[in-house]
Amino acid sequence: TNKFKEGLTKTRTAFVEKVEELITRRKKIDEAFFEELEEILIGADVGVNTVMNLIDELRAEVKKRKIESAAELQPILSEKLVGLLKGEGDKQLRMADSGMTVILFVGVNGVGKTTTIGKLAHKFKSEGKKVMLAAGDTFRAGAVEQLEVWGQRVGVEVIKQGTGADPAAVMFDAVQAAKQRNVDVLLCDTAGRLQNKANLMEELNKIFRVIQREVPSAPHEVLLVLDATTGQNALSQAKLFGEKSGVTGLVLTKLDGTAKGGIVIAIRNELNLPVKFVGLGEKMDDLQEFDSEQFVHALFA
Ligand code: GDP
Repeated sequence: TNKFKEGLTKTRTAFVEKVEELITRRKKIDEAFFEELEEILIGADVGVNTVMNLIDELRAEVKKRKIESAAELQPILSEKLVGLLKGEGDKQLRMADSGMTVILFVGVNGVGKTTTIGKLAHKFKSEGKKVMLAAGDTFRAGAVEQLEVWGQRVGVEVIKQGTGADPAAVMFDAVQAAKQRNVDVLLCDTAGRLQNKANLMEELNKIFRVIQREVPSAPHEVLLVLDATTGQNALSQAKLFGEKSGVTGLVLTKLDGTAKGGIVIAIRNELNLPVKFVGLGEKMDDLQEFDSEQFVHALFA
């Protein structure tokens, strides 16, 4: 919870402190109060649709409970936010019933995919699992090296080929190697170029097929990594990837560096995808399982 609290400092300042200031200043709930609240929420990247729904619900609640003082609205707002953020399948990753779990990571370059893979490798390893990484981003110069740096840091093996190699071939190698070495969790990086969307989706499909042929229950998760600092852009990326690439869950990175933490609420509300983890820094253990109650408590505490 402390990690959450620390990591969400900027969002707290931009959002919660403004709400608190509004409550103290206005004291009474009226039209002007709701208008200002709406502005604050939109400013925190909660997203227009989500904000409209939320404000409507708050209005209804105020009417129903005959609330007049703004201070009484704060706990109701927290409650509503927890409700909005709560989702099926958050936190928990689907793991293989027996044998190897394969997790695929997708997302645009620079969102923090490699870092997230490194952090998760560390997490699994510290749980006593045998972890292996597959360097499936053969497109971006430096991507393989970067994954290797994480592999060394965490102490796990990285399966790679040269830049320009067929990512599906890398995956094939990786699955074979992982089987041979009795690996528990195979974490697979993929390319994140968006210049040619059709090619990228085709490449992802091919990777899928190769993995599935070797491990029929895999991939157990396809995690889309999104950069929270890009706000509404992250939402568009989620819509773009979500439709075509079989995404099963989300990771939201860089929440520590942004005042736009409200984007989590928008994403949760507009997409039917669980949020598995959030990134709260650049270090190995700056990855937190996403828990809606903890998240809201960290914001309002
Ligand atoms: P990739 O291109 O998607 O693989 O992105 P990288 O993993 O290389 O990350 C891009 C940059 O974002 C790097 O400088 C990372 O250290 C940084 N980064 C990744 N996750 C986080 C996070 O949760 N918080 C912060 N502050 N930085 C992060």
